[in-house]
Amino acid sequence: MWLSTCTDIDDQKRTEETLRQSQKRVDLLMNSSIIGIFCAEDDEIVCANTTFLRMTGNSQEDLQQRNVPWATTTPALASSFSQQAYQEMVAHHCMTPFEMELVCKDGSHLPVLLGGIAFHEEVLQGVGFVMDNSACRELEQRKDTFLGMISHELKTPLASLKLQTQFLRKKLEKQDLPNVEVVCARMDTQLHAVTRLVDELLDVSHIQTGKLEYAQEMVDLDEILEEVVGVIQGVHTTHTIMLRHAASPAAVVGDRDRLARVFLNLLSNAIKYAPDAPLIEVGLATEASAVTISVRDQGIGIPRELQGRIFERFYRAVPLQQCAFPGLGMGLYIVAEIVRRHGGTIRVESEKGKGSIFHVTFPLAASRRGGPEVLKEKRDGQDSIKSV
Ligand code: ADP
Repeated sequence: MWLSTCTDIDDQKRTEETLRQSQKRVDLLMNSSIIGIFCAEDDEIVCANTTFLRMTGNSQEDLQQRNVPWATTTPALASSFSQQAYQEMVAHHCMTPFEMELVCKDGSHLPVLLGGIAFHEEVLQGVGFVMDNSACRELEQRKDTFLGMISHELKTPLASLKLQTQFLRKKLEKQDLPNVEVVCARMDTQLHAVTRLVDELLDVSHIQTGKLEYAQEMVDLDEILEEVVGVIQGVHTTHTIMLRHAASPAAVVGDRDRLARVFLNLLSNAIKYAPDAPLIEVGLATEASAVTISVRDQGIGIPRELQGRIFERFYRAVPLQQCAFPGLGMGLYIVAEIVRRHGGTIRVESEKGKGSIFHVTFPLAASRRGGPEVLKEKRDGQDSIKSV
């Protein structure tokens, strides 16, 4: 005796065919993408599309032999920034794309933008998206080189122009012509503005290449601020700058001129962005091991959502069409770099339309308790701050 059953497998076949088609479409999509895509489990890449393999110079065989681990492909994951991205991934299941370099199979480095999403299983699994960023990086490098070159090229004729102007001024003064003083002063102001611009360009370029040099000396911040305020007050008679001194010596170790530049920039900005509010307050407060300088204005303020970006290179929080506030967005970038190189921090509190306060904190020099005597020795022979 035998039994038989009969099943209609048409439906099953149709389902399998649909699945095959859908798999084919996904494969096509994955592999025709300009974006490198990979799946990772813990610290291992388990599958990747052809774009990712091409980018890194690996083959499917390398993948199958588990020869493409995270550690060699993405060493930057060990960096603090990628740690931050990793934490974001764990907390929010996705990460904001960031710039990094992949190390390819042949040891070369490929600049990429890396983003990703995570699934939480027993081990951390995720999908990474990688975009080749080398064209962008190269353009960026060309721009930096250009900036460096242009600022160098401008410096020489500018120095010569300054000398010629001084020579001309002396000649004209002797001839006792009317308005000579006024015209020469205007020329000086314009020359000074261009010089400052070129110096800032040069600084930005040096920061980019890590070549900005810093002196190491004992500096009295109270004294620097007093000088800077004096200079700025002399030029900007429209505003009143109120300076509140520190209760105890505010000595830090650092570069006097560059520290003066920090305060010149903050005060110039406070005046520029507060055209209708003539009071600027500067305060110096010392604690056990740190000193904080605050510059407060009651000007246009900075919208909250832009406050995190104003320390970026060439970033301006004022719309381009608002020519009332000229500038190139270099000042705070330089300020933040100088502060950082002195082991300090800078932050801003601001409300649109209500003004801003910039707080800069520096660690006090260990010998500040030895105080003014130490500082006094160093002060001799130091240049005073001559220009805004
Ligand atoms: P610049 O003033 O040349 O544009 P900065 O780097 O000094 O460049 O400043 C960056 C941006 O931050 C400015 O464009 C401006 O939008 C904003 N900003 C800086 N200081 C102030 C301030 N005191 N009040 C309002 N906005 C400010």
